[in-house]
Amino acid sequence: MGKTIVEVQLEVPYHTLTIAETEAQLSTSIAEGLSTKEAEARLRRYGTNELKGDGGVKWYKVLWRQIAHPLVAVLLIANALAFATSQFAEGGVISFIIITNAVIGFYQEFSAEQTMEALRNMSSPTSQVIRDENRTLVPNNQVVPGDIMIIEDGDVIGADCRLFEVFNLETDEALLTGESLPVQKNLDQIKSAEQPLGDRLNMVFSSTTVVKGRAKGIVTSTGMATQIGKIATTLMNVNTDEQTPLQKRLNKLAYFIMVAAVVSVIIVFGVHSFRYSTEIAIYAISVAISMIPQGLVAIVTLTMAFGVRRMAHAKAIVRRLSSLESLGAVTNICSDKTGTLTESKMVAVRMWFPGDGFYRVSGTGFIPEGEIFYQGHTMNSKPQIQEEKVTIASGSDQLLRALQAAALCNMAELRKTNHPETHGEWTAIGDPTEIALQVLAYKAGVPKPELIENGFQLIAEFPFDSSVKRMSVLYKTDSGEYFIFTKGATERVIGRCSHYRHGESEIPLENEKADSVQPDFKSTIMDSVDALAEQGLRVLTLSYRKFTPTPGVDLVHGLDREEVESDLVFLGLVGIYDPPREESLPAVMRCYEAGIRVHMLTGDHPSTAAAIAKEVAIIPADTNVKTSPMVMSADMFDSMTEEQIDALEELPRVVARCSPNTKVKMIAALHRRKLFVAMTGDGVNDSPSLKAANVGIAMGQSGSDVAKQAADIVLTDDNFATIVDAIAEGRRMFYNIQKFIQHLMSGNIAAILVLLAALAVKDSEGDSVFPLSTVAILFMNLCYSSPPAIGLGLEPASAMSMKEPPRSSDQGLFTFEVIMDMVVYGVSMAILEFAPFIIVLFVFEDGEMGYRCNTSYSPSCDGVFRARAAGYAAGTLLILAHAINCRDIRESGWTWSRLKTLHHNKALWLSIVLGTLILIPIFYIPGLNKNVFKHLAITYEWGLVFASLFIYTAFVELYKLIKRRTMA
Ligand code: ADP
Ligand code: MG
Repeated sequence: MGKTIVEVQLEVPYHTLTIAETEAQLSTSIAEGLSTKEAEARLRRYGTNELKGDGGVKWYKVLWRQIAHPLVAVLLIANALAFATSQFAEGGVISFIIITNAVIGFYQEFSAEQTMEALRNMSSPTSQVIRDENRTLVPNNQVVPGDIMIIEDGDVIGADCRLFEVFNLETDEALLTGESLPVQKNLDQIKSAEQPLGDRLNMVFSSTTVVKGRAKGIVTSTGMATQIGKIATTLMNVNTDEQTPLQKRLNKLAYFIMVAAVVSVIIVFGVHSFRYSTEIAIYAISVAISMIPQGLVAIVTLTMAFGVRRMAHAKAIVRRLSSLESLGAVTNICSDKTGTLTESKMVAVRMWFPGDGFYRVSGTGFIPEGEIFYQGHTMNSKPQIQEEKVTIASGSDQLLRALQAAALCNMAELRKTNHPETHGEWTAIGDPTEIALQVLAYKAGVPKPELIENGFQLIAEFPFDSSVKRMSVLYKTDSGEYFIFTKGATERVIGRCSHYRHGESEIPLENEKADSVQPDFKSTIMDSVDALAEQGLRVLTLSYRKFTPTPGVDLVHGLDREEVESDLVFLGLVGIYDPPREESLPAVMRCYEAGIRVHMLTGDHPSTAAAIAKEVAIIPADTNVKTSPMVMSADMFDSMTEEQIDALEELPRVVARCSPNTKVKMIAALHRRKLFVAMTGDGVNDSPSLKAANVGIAMGQSGSDVAKQAADIVLTDDNFATIVDAIAEGRRMFYNIQKFIQHLMSGNIAAILVLLAALAVKDSEGDSVFPLSTVAILFMNLCYSSPPAIGLGLEPASAMSMKEPPRSSDQGLFTFEVIMDMVVYGVSMAILEFAPFIIVLFVFEDGEMGYRCNTSYSPSCDGVFRARAAGYAAGTLLILAHAINCRDIRESGWTWSRLKTLHHNKALWLSIVLGTLILIPIFYIPGLNKNVFKHLAITYEWGLVFASLFIYTAFVELYKLIKRRTMA
């Protein structure tokens, strides 16, 4: 028997091969990667890169859930009883109802689950690979063996790879090997094919996470052929169909209703002195069934699925369903600045050098074309005047060094594409801050590739991290010299500097005789930082030093960061502009309208943060950064005790120089104030704050995989405005669920009251005269509860929903008002449904009850049959009209402007129109009316029916008016 592709893939011991052998084995090239065409071919051959077995919605499971429903069991009993006693009409209709119910339920759940499934796939992680000689981002499931994969800090590795380039790479393989410490990777070839997984240091494995460093590797196996695939079956059953708090609450409600149903069955038998007859039994069952809102859970799921889909269109991917509910209750949003409120299209626009002054840089975007102008000692906000163009050749040596630092302490890459369509366009990969610096270096004529060509060789990297806020690299030159370059936030770099560079000389920073006449040079630097930051610019400090390695120390792994980042020489400042997104200001304004506070938590300098916060109206334009309590630096915030924070009148709107821990502290402070928080994050160490927040939001584009996994929601466009859209959607969904639950429950209350009250109407033999036939009860339950409820679930957001303060988070669906409404509407509908029945029976038909009118027609039953038809018509029209009432909890549903909007909601108006039309055949088709529904064609009775309808509507309007006047 031939081996499967998976088996063959698993057998090659890639860790024993050299890099060249691996390339040959997988017919790929580490420089060029695969071509798109080849990748497609391989995808067909090897299949998608996914763990199989957990995937896909199983139709038979969904179908089973429909059939295994307790409701169906009850119906089946009723069905058996009906057939056993030769009541074929009832039996037929009950069978029809069972099947229709199962089909509708199946369809609803299946489509809901499919939507969810599709979305789960959409939120699946991506991998960076080289295709057609270019770095591209592909969905993880498209990765194929032979792809060249680029691995970075915070990634969840997408496939098994043989490494060919590593940089301080450490991965967490606990998932695979149980080893909880990070594993340091290298490129050494391994002799033994039997080497345990944890020791195959030249390989990385699918689903493990990168703790540190970066690397490149050749994908050796994908999907089920990966090491994780081997043990996947044991991990497979991770719970993906988690239930939201709302669903749990509804399940509880379902039990409550079950109990109530049993009680009403007992009542029905009790009224008949516990005498058993099939007729009574079937009636009892119908009564029980009419209590159960069988559509409820399915409609909630469906409404959520639609909501999730709408949010995906609006660029917010929901990873946890429960966050849908939480979103609507959000009172405070804590947002990143960079990339979320701003565009993250950073451009270096200013520079400052000691003893020299300010420079301006022209140009836009990634395009490395622009010029540098000298502005003098004060920053000139009106350029053009008094500027002098400079080039690096004409500039000082100090400038050259600084720009080298900008280019080399930098992992971003600029590329000019060769692709025929986008011919000659510039693209950039990497951190936006670093891209900006790289572009600057290109403009100044010292691009990184050229420096590398001229002999600079990267030896070690101490990566950027938003808690240290700086980054350092060690380079070796052709002539055997070593240089350290460090860049970062000024406060975090200046303390590490002992000198500053002026021209060719290095002057000590600390001035021993510092006084007011000749201040310390540090304060001169900080003044320049302020000048740049006040313009809303992100300021980066550049520094460097010569380095003499201690013999015998491993330069790649053995260096101490503290030691490397000391005794540095300050070179200069770069001011980077990152404009706010156009959508940010309006989105912040919408938040204010909706009673939501916005906080900006950023790693930037307080002045930079405040300048941008003013532009997007997070703080008033006249706020004084230095004195206002609205702007705080993280140092200050972190040093405050919980009591001090709680004593603040208001939590700061802007927290600058934030680290990931500051975010956690902020969430805790908000929670102590009983506020409900949405927090954004992108970095590797944002996971704790994303988890602590009520709604954790990760950035789809700039975010790390780790952050995405910790988040409830991922924004595919990284845009602040999308958060606000998601909140609006969350509110809409919550209110809609509330609306249709109101409709279902008040309808059920009405039905049950009518059915029980009517037990008192007895014929000459002492049997109750049923106000609705069994078939009619079941039919009503099928046609008039679910369809309008689905329609209400799909209602567009009301104009008011984002103009009201958020609901309180511990307030569930069933507020006092909602429960009061249920009772009021349920009771009044019951009375107005029962009234036509009673009036026809006792006023127009003189109380003629006939004989055995529950089971079949005889001329003596005329009165009962007409009365039933009248009650049925009233019941139907009331419940349909009630759908219109339920569209608004307080406002009138019957004003013309409100009715007009019905045409946006096809499901709702169709269910109302069809529900009304269906009365005609039920009443007027001979046989169907008399034998199945136990009705007679009605005439004058319509007058009573419409009177009921009118009274009900008028009553509801009055009731709502009173609510509007009296309730807050
Ligand atoms: P934010 O959350 O606003 O993006 P960060 O924590 O990423 O803030 O950045 C904070 C500060 O760290 C910036 O103001 C800048 O001075 C510095 N910084 C940002 N990116 C880098 C980088 N790649 N290398 C060195 N320093 C950086
Ligand atoms: Mg950042």
